[in-house]
Amino acid sequence: MIKTVKFGGSSLASAEQFRKVKAIIERDADRRYVVVSAPGKRFPGDDKITDLLYRCQALRAQGLSFDAAYKTIAERFIGIRDGLGLKLCIEAELDEIRSRIEAGTTPDFAASRGEYLNAKLLSAYLGFDFLDATELIRFRDDGTFDDDATALRAGVLTAHERAVIPGFYGRRRNGMIRTFSRGGSDITGAIVAKLSASDVYENWTDVSGFLMTDPRIVPDAKVIETVTYSELRELSYMGASVLHEDSIFPVRKARIPIHVLNTNDPEASGTMIVPDSMATDKEHQRPITGIAGRRGYTVITLTKDNLHNDLGFAYRLMGILARNGISAERMPSGIDTISLVIDDKRLIGRMDQLYHDIMVECSPDTVEIASCIALIASVGIGMVRNPGVAAKLFTALSAAEVNARLIDQDSNEMNIIVGVEQRDFERAVEAIYRAFA
Ligand code: ASP
Repeated sequence: MIKTVKFGGSSLASAEQFRKVKAIIERDADRRYVVVSAPGKRFPGDDKITDLLYRCQALRAQGLSFDAAYKTIAERFIGIRDGLGLKLCIEAELDEIRSRIEAGTTPDFAASRGEYLNAKLLSAYLGFDFLDATELIRFRDDGTFDDDATALRAGVLTAHERAVIPGFYGRRRNGMIRTFSRGGSDITGAIVAKLSASDVYENWTDVSGFLMTDPRIVPDAKVIETVTYSELRELSYMGASVLHEDSIFPVRKARIPIHVLNTNDPEASGTMIVPDSMATDKEHQRPITGIAGRRGYTVITLTKDNLHNDLGFAYRLMGILARNGISAERMPSGIDTISLVIDDKRLIGRMDQLYHDIMVECSPDTVEIASCIALIASVGIGMVRNPGVAAKLFTALSAAEVNARLIDQDSNEMNIIVGVEQRDFERAVEAIYRAFA
């Protein structure tokens, strides 16, 4: 069995955390490929090394001194090395990075050095090879990730029996360093898992898995033991977050499960994210896997008598949206109504034109605009097999005195979306959670 393991910034924020990571890796000889983030926060209010590196580069670009920020970075890395009693000399590398920033390097190069140095430290500490991400992860010159060129690098990875690889960056064809978006070490981990044909991709963080709903709303929310890739996609689209969204694609395609685990509580079972085809009866019998939601939507409802006989009404409406550069999240419809659910951000500065175009080209009988709407998605692949899920959900909402302004269900029957007024948002999420947890 081969396992790719990725450790996030808080898992590698100090010498003490490095010790936990080593113990985890040494407990299982299958953990052969290790992807790391830069050192993160040790305590609330602490600095992340990546933020400090960006700050150094930005200060330099403005002609300002970055000495203080760089000193903090150097001290963090030297503190980890000395705390672990490692003999590795990193002073020369630190000086070299400093000179590159001084000479006016790119933000991507500066930011990437956090992962680079952390991988150097961990490889020395574990006795694993260091394999630079520039050897594996390739970007096109326009900055987009180059899947094909990266796939060709699999042999470079598997030539190593065990290796530590920095997350977050790779290189463009022209040799320049390029990073993913923030949190992108998760993506590197997924790519390494795919290149090494790992049986599982373990993503070690500081939470004991993926919670059934937002703990800021339900503090005692339970951990989800198993979630499928499609369920996770729906939940993260609606605001739930544990992993970088783009880290799902490489492993999902390769049908590799992701195991989300906690470095500070390694015995906790965490959450398994599995391809839909690997879901067992247990998952199919569970009506709701998770509940996620977001505020900040506007619902525009158009009514027109005999709408269903007005050929091309929806076509004209879609044309208006496309022309105005607006995409609708959802479009629930009835016999004589169509509603557009639109993220408020997409409407900024565009509402008047949109309204005008709808009136001229669609001639609806009425248009109703409701703003300050929150959407709540209750997601579960088991919904389709379990009768009464919607009844239970709406009973819970009505008992909590929440008025559902909009109801929509995906055709794959994995998702019930309810639109509520923003002021009812938390109450609604909690009511649904209590009904199904
Ligand atoms: N260190 C990078 C960041 O802070 C990437 C990562 O941690 O995944 O965004």
